[in-house]
Amino acid sequence: MSLRVCNNVIECIGKTPIIRLQRIEKDQNVDFEIWAKAEFMNPTGSVKDRMAYYMIKKAMDKGELKPGMTIVVPTTGNTGISFSALGSYFGLKVLIVIPEEMSAERFMLMRLFGADFLFTPGGESDAGTALETAKKLAEENPDKYYFFDQWSDEANVQAHYETTGKEILDQIGCPDAFVAQVGTGGTLMGVAKRLKEECKNVIVAGAEPAECPVAAYWFKTGKEGPWGRHEIEGVGDGFVPDIVKRYKHLLDDFVTSTSEEAIMMARKIARLEALPVGISSGANVVSAIKLGRSHGLGKGKKVVTILPDYAARYFSTRLFKKKREIVDRKKILEELSI
Ligand code: PMP
Repeated sequence: MSLRVCNNVIECIGKTPIIRLQRIEKDQNVDFEIWAKAEFMNPTGSVKDRMAYYMIKKAMDKGELKPGMTIVVPTTGNTGISFSALGSYFGLKVLIVIPEEMSAERFMLMRLFGADFLFTPGGESDAGTALETAKKLAEENPDKYYFFDQWSDEANVQAHYETTGKEILDQIGCPDAFVAQVGTGGTLMGVAKRLKEECKNVIVAGAEPAECPVAAYWFKTGKEGPWGRHEIEGVGDGFVPDIVKRYKHLLDDFVTSTSEEAIMMARKIARLEALPVGISSGANVVSAIKLGRSHGLGKGKKVVTILPDYAARYFSTRLFKKKREIVDRKKILEELSI
């Protein structure tokens, strides 16, 4: 085992463990192996650190983004936390454009890193409004803002091609299947691109909340599916991201699971595997089980998925509470001492 030494936070991004979920395999009575990449072990606690670093680095290398500038980031949460953290590291001001119903824990963390906010209506499935608002703001004030669109930026795909995908291969070799929930589709498509290059028969599937199967329908019929509210924060943003359209040819299948299934599985992962994961991690593991079963994978076959973030990011959601807590964001921010 090699012990890690980081000269700075950037060097601590990625190189996450991959963990076999043997207790879940047994509990769910599946013959195949479920392997999960522990992305909650990134510095800010989510998979999005990888992408935020690649996107900021690309813009800085091109000379377009310089310290002191303000970046505008539409997000439903984890991206905002990663950009807020790395923004402070690189000396950038950060304006987060975010739906007002996202969990309070997220705003508080972004504020810890010094970010400012612009709120848009709605919750998780309303990311499109945050995206349009941020885009308009940046277009109207080009000298003031540098705009990041995580749903289309190729650096997002590249981050997962060069790091997450490569790490999986280095850790366990070629898997038989890979599945990930679609937020931007960056994780899914970056890993897919790497695996499809190196592993002849790998099955790659996208996954979405069953209540908002916009991309899942689009994959199967060419037409966007019905929009709906769901509770799997960070994914199912309510439109088909550019990245998913760009790399559709890499996908073999699409799986859906309900918010309820995701929440129950996230709790089960805590109780059986002692891993404190968020709701989309539950959804990913449910999706891995469904995918392995529907493709008839048996003993010795490996299905890989992602554990994108931590349970502690969900105290106000139904992962912990009977009812999702909708709090007054402005009040929370006013009351903060930072
Ligand atoms: N789960 C969570 C909790 C997330 O925040 C995200 C990113 N929005 C994802 C999954 C999906 O990742 P990606 O954007 O790479 O599709």
